[in-house]
Amino acid sequence: EQELTKLIERTPNSKKRWEEASTHLSSGVASSYQLIEPYPISIERGHGPRIWDVDGHEYIDYMNGFGAMIQGHSNPVIGEAIAERFPLGTHFGAPSGDAAIVAKELGRRFGLPKWRFTNSGSESTMDAIRIARAMTGRDTVMKIFGSYHGHHDAVMVSVGSAGMDDPEIRGTRDNYASISYGGGIPQSIVDMTVAVPFNDAEAMERRIEELANEGRKPACVIMEAAMMNLGVVFPLPGYLEKVREITRKHGIVLIFDEVKTGLLIAAGGATEKFGVTPDILTISKALAGGLPSGAVGMTEEASKLVESGEVNQVGTYNGNPLTIAAARANLFEVLTDDAYAHLAHLNDRILAGCNEVIAKYDLIAHTVGIGAKGCIVFSDTPVTDYESYFVSAEAMELTTALTTLAWLFNVNRGVFMAPGREEEWTLSVTHGDAEVDRYVEVFDELAAALRA
Ligand code: PLP
Repeated sequence: EQELTKLIERTPNSKKRWEEASTHLSSGVASSYQLIEPYPISIERGHGPRIWDVDGHEYIDYMNGFGAMIQGHSNPVIGEAIAERFPLGTHFGAPSGDAAIVAKELGRRFGLPKWRFTNSGSESTMDAIRIARAMTGRDTVMKIFGSYHGHHDAVMVSVGSAGMDDPEIRGTRDNYASISYGGGIPQSIVDMTVAVPFNDAEAMERRIEELANEGRKPACVIMEAAMMNLGVVFPLPGYLEKVREITRKHGIVLIFDEVKTGLLIAAGGATEKFGVTPDILTISKALAGGLPSGAVGMTEEASKLVESGEVNQVGTYNGNPLTIAAARANLFEVLTDDAYAHLAHLNDRILAGCNEVIAKYDLIAHTVGIGAKGCIVFSDTPVTDYESYFVSAEAMELTTALTTLAWLFNVNRGVFMAPGREEEWTLSVTHGDAEVDRYVEVFDELAAALRA
């Protein structure tokens, strides 16, 4: 309550702007994910690792545009690329030479030969699933229970859907219910998407066999190699290799959704980090220096369906020259090997600092991190899948309360993050030791307050 009062006292202009915006914008925001309690903090500008709100407060940004701003705000390299492109025209709907250069670089990083561009993560996963369905002539989509792949119908199923926390509604690990994530999604589409637990290849194979017996074998398995929407959840040793083996054996297209992992955990994302290559791969965040962008990587076999026109992979703004100019500068000049080494150093430092605080105050908490991403989990249960994330209604209530308190505590002390246990911090290449140490310092203050 104290921290909430403090936030409200500090941010009257954010509140005012949100109230005024509500007249013309539904609930005062451009996307429902921007709507937070008690109201969204309105951001005026950003530079490097810092942002400033409409009340003039400065923050170190650990939210970084939901993981898109790994190159830091108003990065001059990206700015120059955009400024150079603008006078030449920003959009033609015809090929620009740079698109092939960016595609070649993505191929080098992620190990897939053919690419197409989109404008978001959702468009990328939508296209990936369509290609997989066309490749197999099947309709069923298999995903991981609790994972998020964007806002199109096929994947708005068993995400953080109402009822998932209730074992009566969600069913068992071997037979999860397909639960719609919000209204407006036809039940027939929801039923076409089947979810299985993360880190359990045997359960995946059993479900595939059951579905095959019912005459609805999946077209694809779409998954994050490391889950990034329940905090950070690592694949257990051997799991991804087993998934690769099972999908190959059953003729199912394996899609790695690298919208969060790709470009954020390594130069070549999870594919590089864990050494398993899918048939189709999606990226988006961190691709074009904060401009809306996305890409789909494919094998030659998958690409043939696009090339033959059997699958229409289209979009007015796909490969937009402005976006592609930003992506080119970002990939070749900003997200270099040195940049990833710097991010790894920063993440090691922040994780070690937080672990020291946890030990010092004997907190029931642990940390998980990789590349530019990481989080503190207010629980002593290691998270390996949705069920261990959820633990129990009581434990969930406590961890949610602690996460919310940590968020308020951070914001009131100039550390900006997305609220919610499912989100992680995102470091940028412009963060340094001082920024990271400030995060740890505020966490120490929180721990002291909790122990007091
Ligand atoms: N896939 C993953 C793993 C994501 O985390 C997200 C967004 O957070 C998406 C897809 C959807 O991306 P977008 O919001 O750009 O449509």
